[in-house]
This record gives sequence, C-alpha cells and structure tokens, in this order.
Amino acid sequence: MRLLLVEDDAMIGEAVLNALRTAHYAVDWVRDGAMADTALRSEQYDLVLLDLGLPQRDGLEVLRALRARRNTTPVLVATARDAVGDRIAGLDAGADDYVVKPYDTDELLARIRALIRRSAGRAEPAFEHKGVSLNPATHEASLNGQPVSLSAREWAVLEPLLARPGTVLSRAQLEEKLFSWKDDVSSNAVEVYIHGVRKKLGNEIIQTVRGLGYLVPKQ
Ligand code: CA
Repeated sequence: MRLLLVEDDAMIGEAVLNALRTAHYAVDWVRDGAMADTALRSEQYDLVLLDLGLPQRDGLEVLRALRARRNTTPVLVATARDAVGDRIAGLDAGADDYVVKPYDTDELLARIRALIRRSAGRAEPAFEHKGVSLNPATHEASLNGQPVSLSAREWAVLEPLLARPGTVLSRAQLEEKLFSWKDDVSSNAVEVYIHGVRKKLGNEIIQTVRGLGYLVPKQ
C-alpha cells in the first residue's frame, strides 16, 4: 500500500514516516500544500495523511480540490487536540476521518488500516481468500491455517491483489504499491517478489495475465 504523508513539521514528519515504513507502507512525504496537490494529481495513493496547517496551500484547500476532481482516495486529516472546528471543517471538506496531534502511533496505524479496509469494501480486519489469510494489523500471513512468513515486499505485492480478487494490476501499479519516489527500482523487482509469494503460497495464488499484469483469481 502506498501512502502520501503531508506534514510540514520536520520532526513530526520524520517520526510518522518511520512508523509508516515500519508498518510496511510505501510512503511519499511532502511538506507543503502545493507539493501535496502536485503529488495527488500525478500519483494514485491508497491513503493520504493530511495535516491541515500547511505552507503554500492550506490542507483544506488541497482536500477540496481533490474531491472536486472526484478523486475518492481515503483522506485522514490531522488536527490539534483542541481544534474541534478544524476537524468539522475537514470532515465537511471530504475527509474520511481525523486523527489528533500529537499522534498516538498505534491509534494512527489502526485508523489507517480501518480506512483502507473500508475503501476496499471490507468489514473484516483480515484479507481471506482461497485459504490465504493476511492480517494487516499483526502482519501475520497463513495458508490453510498454517503460518507463513512473508517479507515486507512480498506482502506489499500480494496485499493489493488479494484485496480485490479478479482485478488485474499492472506491473507499474504494483511497483507504485511497493516503492516510494526515493527508492531505486530494478526492472524485475515485481517479478522477484511475486516469485517469492508463489514459492510460499503456491503457484495458483497469483496468476500472470500476459501483457496486462497480475491477478488473484476470484474462484
Ligand atoms: Ca502543520
């Protein structure tokens, strides 16, 4: 899953970035509203963590512009503890949820998981399909009830495919889930991690769709 972190405070941004990366997310971090706007126009994210008080362009403005483009990316706004007015304005501008600063990391991660889950149309916390289970909260994977150890990047290619069985994702789309701007991507990285997933969970779990990409079969 790929997240956009919009935060102008260097210390908070650094801490959140580390927490998100530790939780296996690919993260792009921008520090002002104009950069956030540019990033949201050019990339597809699974979630945006949006600070409202930003230089260049206010967070609310960025959010309103995003929704005016009919972009439905889940947005979690960050506000100060006593800023009830900001929270209401954020929700009314199209945010899906809010989190108060200073962040409680565990709560932040739980809210992110909940929003991503909801945006994929799921109610249950774990992805379950054809005997494979992935629990984003615990990072536990299993096959027919037996624990399987996946690397962070094997997880990152499997999760978006397992989230929507029957939907084809191209190699480029999977690369976006795996890496943020700063990473160096080798041309066969996605194939390497898919190979790893197949070795651990069986060849059938991810199918190659020639010329298009990959999918987890529905049946
Ligand atoms: Ca700020």
